[in-house]
Amino acid sequence: MIDEIAFDTSRACAERLDAADPLRRWRTEFEIPPDAAGNPRVYLVGNSLGALPRRARDYVNAELDRWGHLGVDGHFTGALAWEPYHELLTEPMARIVGGQSDEVVVMNSLTANLHLLMISFYEPTPQRHKILIEDHAFPSDHFAVESQIRQRGFDPASSLVLLRPRAGRTTLDPSDILDAIAQLGSELALVLLPGVQYYTGQVLPMPEITDAAHGAGARVGFDLAHAAGNVPMQLHDWDVDFAAWCTYKYLNGGPGGVGAAFVHQRHVADQQLPKLLGWWGTRKDTRFEMKTEYEPIPTVESWQLSNAPILSMAALRASLEIFDEVGGVATLRTKSERQIAYLDHLLGAVLAGRIVSLTPPEPERRGAQFALTITSREVDGRAVYDRLEEAGVACDWRHPNVIRVAPVPLYNTFVDIHRFVEILEGLIP
Ligand SMILES: *Cc1c(COP(=O)(O)O)cnc(C)c1O
Repeated sequence: MIDEIAFDTSRACAERLDAADPLRRWRTEFEIPPDAAGNPRVYLVGNSLGALPRRARDYVNAELDRWGHLGVDGHFTGALAWEPYHELLTEPMARIVGGQSDEVVVMNSLTANLHLLMISFYEPTPQRHKILIEDHAFPSDHFAVESQIRQRGFDPASSLVLLRPRAGRTTLDPSDILDAIAQLGSELALVLLPGVQYYTGQVLPMPEITDAAHGAGARVGFDLAHAAGNVPMQLHDWDVDFAAWCTYKYLNGGPGGVGAAFVHQRHVADQQLPKLLGWWGTRKDTRFEMKTEYEPIPTVESWQLSNAPILSMAALRASLEIFDEVGGVATLRTKSERQIAYLDHLLGAVLAGRIVSLTPPEPERRGAQFALTITSREVDGRAVYDRLEEAGVACDWRHPNVIRVAPVPLYNTFVDIHRFVEILEGLIP
């Protein structure tokens, strides 16, 4: 058992942890990008683009073959027929976020889904028109919210409220978020926050935020780009109104992969909600009668617009299958917590005073990602990042001085973590 092995800074310790890891065999299901010599890189950017599941090649090729052989008949032929293909992903994706099968749909892309859902769940009135987001939101989310506010005839200067960490802090204090919601009270229309913050890796208290927003009479949506496949969630039980996420980060769905959305059951059949419509949201049994009377599917599928991107969904199907075979996000999270603790231990033992982490130290307030800043003024952080990459470490640089690394429990080893710290230590005098 990995949790019985005491940490030390030796490589032998990392090897012991790997040998005792019950999930170690899953790494062989992935292609880890190689360095110039052909050896697997220390791939710590699964928070940006997850590694390729080997079986995705077969799943995508199967669809290319079906296209080649069946042509247009592929839409309606066999167990992999394209017309209902997205349904193959619904249950596995619902398990990733703790949703019911009528609450989760794989469709479009993340920012597009945020827009579609805000059309439904941001219904501003002169009294209640404010949207609460974080100051350090991912730019796409910020742009989406600003443009939604303008689209409804309101002004971001008065309708957009930005949550900032306290002076001298890098992450939001959970109680400050809840206080801000309560203070906005009857002016607050919508809270739109990340489940896991993309820059710092902070896990936000989603159930408490949801309760606070509902207590204020507002709706709440989460951007789960960095949460899906990283931390366990129970969106249905938490009573979240809506959520959207991408699939190319921890879910390994491939570059630009199809996105996903959650709408709580109590909203899915609500005909009063404003909605942008397309033919893929209409009843499946009458869709091809090509009538122009809209008959919505009584699930979140009624937010679908277009027929689905099958090649992207085929790759995602391969990855979600692996999540199920492993035992789900909760199983992965157990290993992840161990890997996070190990990386914490090494950074503290080897690099204390030279590196600070922006990520909250409490296990329940962090996911797989570390955001690290080099404290020494003589050291140029960007140069350290470049040399990490040259040494075969794939990580991520964020202006002005943050290196992000994310050990992913599906395919990163404890030896990966050890190598990263060893190489980093050699670069920071
Ligand atoms: C990755 C990410 C995005 C990217 O949006 P796309 O529409 O998929 O390009 C948006 N928001 C957050 C918080 C992200 O982490």
